[in-house]
Amino acid sequence: MDTTQQYPLLEINLNKIADNTKYLVDLCNENNISIAGVIKGVNAQQEVVDVLADGGCKYLASSRIEQLIGLKEKNNEKETMLIRMPMKHEVKEVVKHIDISLNSEIKTINLLEKECKKQKKEHKIVLMMDLGDLREGFFDKDELIDTTLYIENNLEYVKLYGIGTNLSCYGSIKPSHENLSYLCEIAEEVESKIGRKLDIVSGGSTTSLPLLFDKKMPSKINNLRIGEALIIGRDLIDYWGYDLDKMHKDTMILKAEIIEIKEKPTYPIGEMFLDAFGNKPEYEDKGIRKRAILAVGKQDFVNDRDLVPLEDGIEIAGSSSDHLIVDIQNSKVDYQVGDIISFGMFYSNALYITSSKYVKKQYIQLEELEKEYA
Ligand SMILES: *Cc1c(COP(=O)(O)O)cnc(C)c1O
Repeated sequence: MDTTQQYPLLEINLNKIADNTKYLVDLCNENNISIAGVIKGVNAQQEVVDVLADGGCKYLASSRIEQLIGLKEKNNEKETMLIRMPMKHEVKEVVKHIDISLNSEIKTINLLEKECKKQKKEHKIVLMMDLGDLREGFFDKDELIDTTLYIENNLEYVKLYGIGTNLSCYGSIKPSHENLSYLCEIAEEVESKIGRKLDIVSGGSTTSLPLLFDKKMPSKINNLRIGEALIIGRDLIDYWGYDLDKMHKDTMILKAEIIEIKEKPTYPIGEMFLDAFGNKPEYEDKGIRKRAILAVGKQDFVNDRDLVPLEDGIEIAGSSSDHLIVDIQNSKVDYQVGDIISFGMFYSNALYITSSKYVKKQYIQLEELEKEYA
C-alpha cells in the first residue's frame, strides 16, 4: 500500500492571508486602530501565525492559552493576548507567558495579582463590558468602573491596560455606532477618574469592520481583535455583502477524493428513524440523481452546511462522520472515481479542519516567503 496520504487535503494560501492582513492592517492603521491577530480559528498553525505577525498585527491573540505559550520567542516579541478569561489553574501560566488578558471577575484578577507578586512580574488586563451580546463582561457599567479603580489604586503588579467588548457571539448582536460609542463614553469616564489615558479601547472582532468601511467607527476605539477576516475573509463578502476586491475569501480550500459515483434515488427507502448523529434530517425527493461520495466527513469539518463547492453544478447532499455526499448531476465535468472535488469554507469549518489529524495540510506561499523560512 502507498502510505503517502494525499487526500483529504487542506490547501492554505499564505499569500492570500498576507494580502488580507496587509489590507486590514492598513485600513485599521489609517483609523488609529491596532489589530490583535486572533489565531484560534486555524489552531494557531505556525505558518499562518507568522504571516499575521509579519503583516503588522500588533498583538497575537487566542482564547486557548496553549496556542499562545511559546509564540513570543517565535514571533519577534509580539505581545500576546489571552481573549478568554483565565481558569484558576491557568493563572500561573498566564502570568508567566501572556502579556495581556481579558477579564471580568475580581476573584480571578486577585489571583493574578497574587501570582504576579510571586513571579515578580507585571500583567496587563483589559476589562470587558457586555453591551448586550450576553457573553463575557460586566453588565453593569458602575461595577466595571469600580473594578478599574480597584485595579488602578490597589494592585501593584496587575495593570489596567484598557477596556473592551465582545459582540456577535452568543447574542448575535451587531456592533453599531451606538453600542461602541457607549463603550467609548465609559472609557472616558474611567480616564477622567484615573487621571490618565487607557492604552486600549478594544471594539470587537471581524464583525466590527463594517463600521470602519462605512466610516461609522467611534474614533476612540483603537483596537480590534480580528480572526476570520484575516485568515478566511469570507464573512464580510458573503454574509455582509461588501465588495472587497483587495480581500480573498478562498484562503483555504478543502480537496477530497471521490470514492463512489452512482445514480440513486434522493429519498431514502424504508421506515425513517434517526441519522448517525441522532438527528431527523429532511430529505427532498428529487428523483434519481447522479451522486458522488467523497472520503472526508463530519469528523473533519463537523457541519457540511458551511462548505462551499468551488466547481459549478455541485451541490452538497449531506454527510456522515466519514463520508460527504454530493449531487453531481448538473456538473458538466465527467467525474470519475479517484477525481478530486474542491470546497471553500466558512470559519467553523476552518476551525475544525485545521485541528483534524486526518486532513493533510499544504501551504502555498511566495518564493520570497519560502526563502525567509528556510
Ligand atoms: C474569537 C474572538 C475574537 C475574534 O473573532 P473573529 O470573528 O474571528 O474576528 C475576538 N475576540 C474574542 C473575545 C473572541 O473570542
